[in-house]
Amino acid sequence: MYDKYGEEGLRDGPQAQGFNDIFDIFGMGGRREQREAGPKKVKPTAVQLEVTLEDLYNGKETEVPIERHRICAKCNGVGGSDPKAVQTCKGCKGKGMRTVMMQLGPGMYSQRTGPCDECGGKGESIDPAKMCKDCKGKKIKKEAKKIAVEVDKGAPNGEKYVKHGEGDEIPEAEAGDVIVVIAEKKHKTFKRKGADLEMDKEITLFEALTGLDFVLTHLDGRKIRIRNTPGDVIKPESKFTCEGLGMPFHKRTYSFGNLIINFKIKFPTTIDAKSSKLLQEALGGAVASAGAAKTTPKASTADSGDVAETCELKAFKEEHRNTDHRGGDRDHHHESDEEDDEDGHGHGQRVGCQAQ
Ligand SMILES: [Zn+2]
Ligand SMILES: [Zn+2]
Repeated sequence: MYDKYGEEGLRDGPQAQGFNDIFDIFGMGGRREQREAGPKKVKPTAVQLEVTLEDLYNGKETEVPIERHRICAKCNGVGGSDPKAVQTCKGCKGKGMRTVMMQLGPGMYSQRTGPCDECGGKGESIDPAKMCKDCKGKKIKKEAKKIAVEVDKGAPNGEKYVKHGEGDEIPEAEAGDVIVVIAEKKHKTFKRKGADLEMDKEITLFEALTGLDFVLTHLDGRKIRIRNTPGDVIKPESKFTCEGLGMPFHKRTYSFGNLIINFKIKFPTTIDAKSSKLLQEALGGAVASAGAAKTTPKASTADSGDVAETCELKAFKEEHRNTDHRGGDRDHHHESDEEDDEDGHGHGQRVGCQAQ
């Protein structure tokens, strides 16, 4: 029964969403091995459950809709109104497969094994008058079901919740499991790394220099005031830690990871002369010729007498790189004109620097 129905049933049952073969992803080994060991059990069904970072922070009770095959309740998996309605196929003796000899010519035979044509490979026939109307003799019926899942606090992405016997059912085998796999959605503010949370925070140059005080809404909705030690300067791309503001530890939910904030500093694009002077007073250092900060190059604050060349800064572009040690990136894009460049200058773009 299992061999002809079960194998098919296993293969053709409601498929795991997104996985071709459940055995591949769960590393259960070959199907054969599975069948030889222990009681026969229907292949599990995997379903993904998309959850937000908020759900994983707070924990969540939810339901996952699935479709599954269950034994027909009307006929109890018999397929007909009474067991006698179902007869073992005489053509194949219930095997579902039949070997036929065909004579190709005098003394020449061909042997062919295929599904039994009398029973359509089912190995049995059901008296049409007594066939179960609910399952049409298939013994199983498709049904929609909602599986309750409790997502626990701090559960990692990919966490699996096994719901025993909630999957597909076929006669004479143990019902399969449903495996609910947690799929964490991207969050707009936080990135999760283990039990820690990370976020980028843009602040102004003024805040970076004079102090920071802002309110962050956490994953459970509580508002947290974040500030730095007065007088401390926040440097670009520097990371700071807010202890205990990460995710709850999985299965140790009274402890929490940390929140790591990576500060991005928004610099002003220009500074006028007045501000420049005030900044000098505040920060010290020499100021270039007053009033010329915006357009014309400043008079050098360095002693021009020792300078060999002057370099005006230009905004960096990827194409400025010389990825080839001979210059340029000709190994990748300029193989054909290699011969033209025997002088060795290559294609690199030297930016803005000239000998004076
Ligand atoms: Zn039925
Ligand atoms: Zn048959």
